[in-house]
Amino acid sequence: MFILKSEVQFDMAHYLSGYTGKCQNIHGHRYRIVVKVASETLHEEGQLRSMVDDFGNIKRVLKEIEDLFDHKLVLEDNEEGRKVGEALSVLPNTFKVLYLPFRTTAEEMSRYIYYLLKDKGISVSEVELFETPTNSCTYKE
Ligand SMILES: [Zn+2]
Repeated sequence: MFILKSEVQFDMAHYLSGYTGKCQNIHGHRYRIVVKVASETLHEEGQLRSMVDDFGNIKRVLKEIEDLFDHKLVLEDNEEGRKVGEALSVLPNTFKVLYLPFRTTAEEMSRYIYYLLKDKGISVSEVELFETPTNSCTYKE
């Protein structure tokens, strides 16, 4: 078994809707995503000969994921999240809000990123998302 590993980091603000405790307030994390791409075999010909995948392909997709989240406020796409978003419309329209259809826990975020990678053609085997240097969630199937 061959396992490639690549990672990227981004800064993102969020809060947990319907949560009681510190995370009910808007706060930020320096997220770190560690992606593994696994294969029993290597490509046998062409550009990818003797590779599982080109690190350049993985890096390109990770950069797209970084750009999607980096320096944005991410709100859950529910009634409360949309109200927060409307209240923020007093800010310049360059202020970046991203709505996601789930509570932005490390668990949901890691699963979402796993499928973003898969949809972009990466044979991802697992995604480990660090919310802090010591707390992470791994999603794999
Ligand atoms: Zn948080």
